[in-house]
Amino acid sequence: MSLTDSVVVQGAIIRVDLSSAAALDTATGTFMKISLPFIRSGEGSFYTLAGVDLDARPGIYTLQVKALGPGGKSETAALKVKVRDASFPRQKLTLPPAQAFPDSAAQARIEREDQLRNRSWSRWAPGVFWSGSFIAPIEGEMERFGSRRVINGVPRSPHTGVDISAEEGTPVLAPQAGTVLLTGDFFFTGNSIYLDHGLGLIGMFFHLSRIDVAAGQIVEKGQVIGAVGQTGRATGPHLHWGVRWRNTRINPQSLLELKLD
Ligand SMILES: [Zn+2]
Repeated sequence: MSLTDSVVVQGAIIRVDLSSAAALDTATGTFMKISLPFIRSGEGSFYTLAGVDLDARPGIYTLQVKALGPGGKSETAALKVKVRDASFPRQKLTLPPAQAFPDSAAQARIEREDQLRNRSWSRWAPGVFWSGSFIAPIEGEMERFGSRRVINGVPRSPHTGVDISAEEGTPVLAPQAGTVLLTGDFFFTGNSIYLDHGLGLIGMFFHLSRIDVAAGQIVEKGQVIGAVGQTGRATGPHLHWGVRWRNTRINPQSLLELKLD
């Protein structure tokens, strides 16, 4: 089995290809304590995606692979993945006090919404919906991924997606095929859509003015799923696009750079 060592920056996702002269039946991997499925890409070849969380500590990590061949014969291999510091910027934000410091009623709502979200994104489909590479949901510069936010003087959780400024009402496209996991109007993220692209790759679209899809619906790549707005905690009309791979927080820009079959 052959694998190539890789270098990735915090928050990036890469494709890892595995090839073997032996006729392998299945391959599975482990990376940063997350089990990774391998997808067959040809005779004796497989690939997986390996995402590095934006808060992953820089250093050298090992991606372990175990493959099974004819008669249950197993083979193992490992590759080194070097994680580099992304030097995320700091961002200072000033918000109305009710948004910066939610009261207890809002806190209860936030908690309910967190539970709903956590429940729904643990139910991703075991198959792959993607075909070909991802496309951008709207045109425009992708800003602020990973920025360390200080809101009204208090350090808060990092910004886990990209913000793309656009006029209110700009159509938002599904960057890839998927199933709608969840939609709703949430305290922080406003009108939101969660798309399951398969195998634990989840796309999130926040602050929408309009939602055009419903939970359970299957969408095609390029289909309009909603429109840009400024609902929830937003200081102007923009799309927030976030991506998780097996629960690691990924820069959507690195997803766009992936070559997928
Ligand atoms: Zn955002």
